[in-house]
Amino acid sequence: MNLPTLDALDVKDQRVFLRLDLNAPLKDGQVADDTRLRAALPVIKDLRRRGAKIVLASHLGRPRGKVDARYSLEPVASALSELLECEVLLMDGPRGEGVKGLLASLRPHQVLLLENLRFDEGEEANSTELAQAWASFTDIYVNDAFGASHRNHASIVGLPQLVEKKAVGPLIFKEVEALNKLLHEPERPYIAVLGGAKVSDKIGLIESLMDKVDVFIVGGAMAYTFLAAQKVPTGASRVEKDKIRLAGDLLSRVEARDKILRLPLDHVVVSDLAEGTPVRVTEGPGIAEGDMAVDIGPKTRADFAQILRSGKTIFWNGPMGIFEREPFAEGTLHMAKTLSELSGAYKVVGGGDSVAAVQKSGLAQSFDHISTGGGASLEYLEGGDLPGIRVLRL
Ligand code: ADP
Ligand code: MG
Repeated sequence: MNLPTLDALDVKDQRVFLRLDLNAPLKDGQVADDTRLRAALPVIKDLRRRGAKIVLASHLGRPRGKVDARYSLEPVASALSELLECEVLLMDGPRGEGVKGLLASLRPHQVLLLENLRFDEGEEANSTELAQAWASFTDIYVNDAFGASHRNHASIVGLPQLVEKKAVGPLIFKEVEALNKLLHEPERPYIAVLGGAKVSDKIGLIESLMDKVDVFIVGGAMAYTFLAAQKVPTGASRVEKDKIRLAGDLLSRVEARDKILRLPLDHVVVSDLAEGTPVRVTEGPGIAEGDMAVDIGPKTRADFAQILRSGKTIFWNGPMGIFEREPFAEGTLHMAKTLSELSGAYKVVGGGDSVAAVQKSGLAQSFDHISTGGGASLEYLEGGDLPGIRVLRL
């Protein structure tokens, strides 16, 4: 993979700047979901065991370059400290005199956490000056923040450019390994299940998958723009009017390459999104005026499942309906279940909402890889690399 790994470096007594994705959801000043923190534990523990002096760094939310107490990493520091069973000392800023002083006295096995990197406007601007400030105390740079690696930020790109000894952490390694398999050696038939909110969000992804997959299965709101391109009535469903042409274009290209793009055969519809509005199922693909499709219908679920059984590699991004609302979640949950039952295929799910749906279904363990990078995973599949990973390649 051409990526330097942490095992190859001697970290004893070295100051290691470890860029993590500790961007955990907060509620009432506490970490509401510590999944990302737990995911980071192995690499921190490994560095401690090996006697490194550890400086953790992460962003949290979007404070837009200003100190904002609502986005302090304080709750993250205390949660991490409990999980690691050791002190995690939170610095008062992402840089500054106080930070410098503490760093000078940093001892092996100790763990510092810089305050939210985005409190400094230099982070998102990829400021050389900020990168230099960090480089001045960094012996080894490690990136294990896959979900931030598509950003051209100082802690992701600027800093590693200034540090000689650097590596990717285990989470990035695992992500790249799984996504590379999809990119470079998918066993065929390769099926992509796409859904979610918009075609426009996923154009790049569809383009890059076009050369690789054998079958596209399309559900979610995205499907209605494609149906509109085929002149199927879509009622009041979410259609991106300015993308109908592009969808038509994609459909002809798929056809010209002898590939298949499968659309829903029926839908779950409502006349109104208000709670308690009766839920109906359409006869066929057409949707009556005033009706809004909110999920794929039962015929579609069965059809998609049938096609998926032939897949050897399956990538899923995008829910099949408005899965956040229980009455409209069945198509998405059924998809998770169908995939979980396919034992002979390599299965990857990626994208923030899709991953949330799979986790909600309780079937996460039956996937080969759950790509937690959100936008970063999709960008990796689109372009085959990310700025924060490219800068580390050997
Ligand atoms: P991901 O985060 O996995 O990449 P997206 O962000 O593209 O997925 O899409 C998820 C969103 O799409 C969800 O909020 C879901 O409610 C919405 N969605 C799915 N189907 C529909 C639909 N038929 N109408 C409106 N919104 C939909
Ligand atoms: Mg999303």
